Amino acid sequence: SNGKSRSEVKSPSFTFEDIGGQERAKSELIEALDFLVKKEQIAKLGIRPLKGILMAGPPGTGKTLLAKAAAQYTDSVYLAASGSEFVEMYVGVGAGRIRDLFKEARTKAKKDGKSSAVIFIDEIEVIGGKRDGGQQREYDQTLNQLLTEMDGIHANESPRILMIAATNRKEMLDSALLRPGRFDRHIGVELPDKKGRLHILNIHAGNKPLEDDINMESIAEQTYSFSGAQLEAVMNEAAIYAMREDHATIGERHLTMAIDKVMLGEKTDRETSQ
Ligand code: ATP
Repeated sequence: SNGKSRSEVKSPSFTFEDIGGQERAKSELIEALDFLVKKEQIAKLGIRPLKGILMAGPPGTGKTLLAKAAAQYTDSVYLAASGSEFVEMYVGVGAGRIRDLFKEARTKAKKDGKSSAVIFIDEIEVIGGKRDGGQQREYDQTLNQLLTEMDGIHANESPRILMIAATNRKEMLDSALLRPGRFDRHIGVELPDKKGRLHILNIHAGNKPLEDDINMESIAEQTYSFSGAQLEAVMNEAAIYAMREDHATIGERHLTMAIDKVMLGEKTDRETSQ
């Protein structure tokens, strides 16, 4: 963090075009967001207003990017928090932070002259994990506060709040969070296929001096099962290899070494965490 309070952070200008692959997730998200925009139609048809979207899938696949793009698409202010920020030793602190987050969203939207706010909570399972009795009360209060805030969202209020949550462990979520009127729109964000990987690689190659003879198709092929975050790391590591050799451009060789490094890095991480 740069020490600024969340409310001073400028809204990101991040669009769906900046996200590689994920075509299905993008179109499902856009369809849900259009619901938000077509207020009159929604009201006339008596459709329950959209309050919460849940994005589920492996780490590094672009869930945060999608939430930012959603804020941009709906011309909303954007606030982000992680589930772990609400875990505190003292009862009530987490719940207070949830309350503050919603308050801050409304204040910031008014200040910026926006009619809506997107609140993104990553790692939602940390506060919204299944409650099977054994858990601490602190968690319950935090989750209850989130549910209360969500129940308090109204379609016609200004600013209008949209919640977006992300998780890698959808099966762990408490059913109270998934009920109608809460996070009842689910969007799967999966690892990219070859076409998606190529798209993501090209996005991250955009600001880099790549040699002309690089076969990106082949790089996309060799990075099977890589996430977007890993593909970004491949591009970055390749640039570092080029720099080490005092090369002005990035060659296929650097990319191949970078693929190995990222693959190996992941393996080592997993081995040491077990
Ligand atoms: P986590 O579950 O770990 O929070 P996430 O799904 O929210 O991960 P992001 O934070 O959106 O992942 O992505 C991390 C980084 O990886 C991004 O900043 C971006 O550089 C890169 N990235 C991931 N997915 C994509 C994508 N589809 N297109 C372009 N870049 C991507």
